[in-house]
Amino acid sequence: MSGAPEEVRRKIASLRREIERHDYLYYVLDAPVISDAEYDRLMAELQRLERQYPSLITPDSPTQRVGGKPREGFATVRHAEPMLSLANAFGEEELREFDHRVRNALGSNAYEYVVELKIDGLAVALTYQDGLFVRGATRGDGETGEDITANLKTVRSIPLRLREPVHLLEVRGEMYMPKEAFLKLNRQREERGEATFANPRNAAAGSLRQLDPGITAQRHLNIFVYGIGVLEDPVRPSPATHQEVLRFLQRLGLRINEHYQVCRNMDEVISYCRIWEEKKAELPYTIDGMVIKVNSLAQQSTLGATMKSPRWAIAYKFPAEEAETVVRDIVVSVGRTGVITPTAVLEPVFLAGSTVSRATLHNEDIIREKDVRIGDRVIVHKAGDVIPEIVKVLKEKRPPGTRQFSMPAKCPACGADVVRATGESAYRCTGASCPAQLLEGLIHFASRGAMDITGLGPAVVRQLVESGLVKDVADLYRLNPEQLTGLERFAAKSARNLVEAIQASKKRPLHRLIYALGIRHVGERAARILAERFGDIHRIMNATYEELIAIPEVGHKIAESVVNFMRERQNRELIRRLVEHGLNVTVEAVARPGGDSALAGKTFVLTGTLSALKRDEAKELIEKRGGKVVSSVSKHTDYVVVGENPGSKLEKAAKLGVPVLDEKEFLKLAGVKEDGD
Ligand code: NAD
Repeated sequence: MSGAPEEVRRKIASLRREIERHDYLYYVLDAPVISDAEYDRLMAELQRLERQYPSLITPDSPTQRVGGKPREGFATVRHAEPMLSLANAFGEEELREFDHRVRNALGSNAYEYVVELKIDGLAVALTYQDGLFVRGATRGDGETGEDITANLKTVRSIPLRLREPVHLLEVRGEMYMPKEAFLKLNRQREERGEATFANPRNAAAGSLRQLDPGITAQRHLNIFVYGIGVLEDPVRPSPATHQEVLRFLQRLGLRINEHYQVCRNMDEVISYCRIWEEKKAELPYTIDGMVIKVNSLAQQSTLGATMKSPRWAIAYKFPAEEAETVVRDIVVSVGRTGVITPTAVLEPVFLAGSTVSRATLHNEDIIREKDVRIGDRVIVHKAGDVIPEIVKVLKEKRPPGTRQFSMPAKCPACGADVVRATGESAYRCTGASCPAQLLEGLIHFASRGAMDITGLGPAVVRQLVESGLVKDVADLYRLNPEQLTGLERFAAKSARNLVEAIQASKKRPLHRLIYALGIRHVGERAARILAERFGDIHRIMNATYEELIAIPEVGHKIAESVVNFMRERQNRELIRRLVEHGLNVTVEAVARPGGDSALAGKTFVLTGTLSALKRDEAKELIEKRGGKVVSSVSKHTDYVVVGENPGSKLEKAAKLGVPVLDEKEFLKLAGVKEDGD
């Protein structure tokens, strides 16, 4: 219909642009800025206009496409069979329309449905060859996904070997993050001043699409499989129904969700959907609806698929649950790393299975942006079904006398200055002895990459703090075995061992101490650079922003953070006491950089794609450890490090007899622990 009004064309173009922007934020960055319900409204509007003016539909319209592009840094995988999305039904009426379409297409034949939970995660394809897990991929744009094999291998519920050696099987399923793990992860991120994930789905996607599988491994991801992409097996009879597929997958040792039901008609489907709409809050993971699938696989193929979704299935989306209430107060709490988080205290209201009396406000920017004031009437919902959040303020109902919130200038726990680093949304307490931060600070100080104090784990740290023996990290060095034997679980020997371990840590190189102090943004690498550049902790204490920023590897964030940290009186005092206790605070006492590493003085060639490290990260690691990287293999090469799809360098290495290391061996040689930092 070329005669579509100009206004409609413009509207369609602007909706597409907007949806594409949200797709990018959601699928590529895992950081949506609008709720799914709002997104669905935009999409429904675009679909409505395109239905009205079909000539305006283009193949690249978001209504015709699946998902997003692969994230940079990942190898891509072409799916043997496209991985499609699902059409949506919002309400009973749309479910009945779907049923009519199915009935019309299947003629007079009887059919039944299987109704499953719609797990709010992200779709993955797992390929098993002769029973062995060989590849895992994200859905991506449906045709091509990201190769996340190494990351998926860290997920315990994904079997690396099937119980039966099926010749070729590609299963599809949903990776998700349980509610508990999501809450915990966001709490941690909030404390570190990092952006929180909007919902468990984005958290799962963000955790899975990590270049470092070590991070994925820490994120408690899980899977439910729900379908087959490819099955080639001369021995076993192929399943004939979706229900048989589920049973087959379960028999192979794959994890299916047992809350499903075979329904003979749409009425049964609807009542099963209603049951879970009521009970969804009881589940330990989030679901955003139900998926209804025609049971017979033969009928599924009769129905076929559009470019975007199968015609034999539909997603019934639960309506977003919201409630209206009043903000009674806005209070702040100090997290373990000093981040000050504002929380709204609400007039208690029942919402999605529980009474809500607090809602996180994340940070001051969000309060300003939403213009939330004490006394306001607001709409709350549960982000990803779990975290109560203020959706918006009902400004038209704003009563007189509401109060604006402002961040305290001093930490409510210790009185030190509260600062906000430029470019960051979090405010933090700068006090090193702040009780709220002490515990975590000590745990970090004693941890492996830091001062590496054997026997000083979280439980012992807690004991030391609770008993009042330790009020900051310098107090550790004053401890004697007699004080410890007074504590529960400490015998004379363990007390002596701990004190010895603490004393031994005094000799750690300077860069470890700098890292152990827990200065924001100063990770192990930055600590090493600072130690090498300044050579003495006193010089770092007195370094100016200009001196710091002049170091090529030091950026604005690190420079600013070091200056802020070292400016705080409490921190300077703490360092003074550490010096007094005899800790090593200069570089002289340490072997030359990299000199103690097995990589020192060695020449490396890198080939192929490494999974845990990028090429330049590997190079940097080698150089840090005193080795060097060259581009071609010769008899002077000490090692060739091979990743996936290596080039001709590997052959050359074999010819010249140069030792070849795979990534694991290389990391081991470099002494890297896979802790994801
Ligand atoms: P979808 O999530 O609505 O449905 C399709 C997916 O459901 C499948 O790919 C699969 O991953 C999953 N699924 C879960 N359980 C399943 C089961 N039992 N059987 C089969 N599949 C199951 O579609 P989508 O294309 O992944 O995403 C579109 C939706 O994502 C939108 O409706 C919106 O809610 C959300 N979104 C939000 C934003 C935003 O900015 N907030 C942006 C883009 C997309």
